[in-house]
Amino acid sequence: MSLLRVENLSKHYVFNRSLGQRLTGAPQRVVRAVNGVSLSVKKGEILGLIGESGCGKSTLGRAILRLHEPSSGRVVFDGTDVTALPAAELKAMRRRMQIIFQDPYASLNPRRTVADIVGLPLALHGIASGAEARRITAEVLERVGLRASQLDRYPHQFSGGQRQRIGIARALVSNPDFVVCDEPVSALDVSIQAQIIALLLELKRDLGLTYLFISHDISVIGYLADRVAVMYLGEIVESGPVISVLENPRHPYTQSLLSAVPDVGPRRSRPRVRLQGDLPSPLNPPAGCKFHTRCPLAVAACKTLVPEKRAIGPDHSAACHRLEEGLSLLEDVR
Ligand code: SF4
Ligand code: MG
Repeated sequence: MSLLRVENLSKHYVFNRSLGQRLTGAPQRVVRAVNGVSLSVKKGEILGLIGESGCGKSTLGRAILRLHEPSSGRVVFDGTDVTALPAAELKAMRRRMQIIFQDPYASLNPRRTVADIVGLPLALHGIASGAEARRITAEVLERVGLRASQLDRYPHQFSGGQRQRIGIARALVSNPDFVVCDEPVSALDVSIQAQIIALLLELKRDLGLTYLFISHDISVIGYLADRVAVMYLGEIVESGPVISVLENPRHPYTQSLLSAVPDVGPRRSRPRVRLQGDLPSPLNPPAGCKFHTRCPLAVAACKTLVPEKRAIGPDHSAACHRLEEGLSLLEDVR
C-alpha cells in the first residue's frame, strides 16, 4: 500500500509584470518548476528521484511537504489529503513528514547550539520541553553517530559530515514516518558520502522509515533506491523498479543519464551519449516533448505532440513517442 501518493502535482511561479509590460500586453511570465507530477511511495520503500540540477526535484520535494505551496494537484499521505489541510493540522502532519536538506552549511543556524537546532521540532510540535527535550535530543544525536557531550556546541565546530548528521537528527527527532532526503550527500566529500548513505540506510531499517531520495547521481540511486522516477524539466519522463529502469532504460533521457555511468546495468561498453545544449529554461519550455531540443532520437512529431506516459513492464512506464520502436542510445557501437 502506498504511504504517499502524489497526484498531478504542479508548482508554478508567476512573476508580476511591470506596469509597462502590462500596458503593452506582454504575457505573464510563468515558471513551471513542477508540472503535473504523479508518483507513489510504498511504506518502507526508497523512491529515488533523479534528474539534472534545475529540473525541479527540490521544488517537488518541498511541494510534497507544502514547504512550497503547490499550485495544483494533491498529496495524499497515509490516507489524508495533505494539500487540503488547514494550517494547524498541517503542522501536526509535519511531525510525520520531514526533510533533510542538501547543504549542511546553509541549513543550520550558526547562532544556535546543536541542542537548540535538533530540539526545535520537539518544542514546535509540543512533544517535549526542558530536561525531557534535552534527553531526547541527546538520544537522537547518539543515534546519528554524534555524542551527547556535543549538545552545547555550535555548527561551526563540526565537520561537513557531522553537520549533515545534525541535519539528520533534526529531521528524526519528531519520530517521522516519511523523510524527503534532498541530495543529502552531494555537498559532502566523496569519502564522507558513503558513511552518510550507510547511516541513512541503517536508520531507515531500524526506524521503519520511508524515503523520497533526491539525487543527480544515478549510481547513488542505483545503490539505495527500490524504485526510481526520472525528472526532466518539471515532469517525470520514466519511472519503475530500479533494476528494471537501470537495466532496461526506455526513455532517451534516462539512457543519456545512464551512459555517463559505465558500471551500472548489464552492458560494459556503452557509448557515451552527449546531449546537445543546456537544460532549456522552465520559463520558456519547448513545446511537444520537452526533451526534443536535446534528444538524438527526436522526429517531427516530437516538436508538437506531448507524449503520454505508457506502461512498458510491471510498474515501469515512460513518456516517449518512439517507445514501440525499441530504439536505444545505449546499443554497443561496433
Ligand atoms: Fe525524444 Fe521524441 Fe521520445 Fe521526446 S518523444 S524523448 S523527443 S524521441
Ligand atoms: Mg535541488
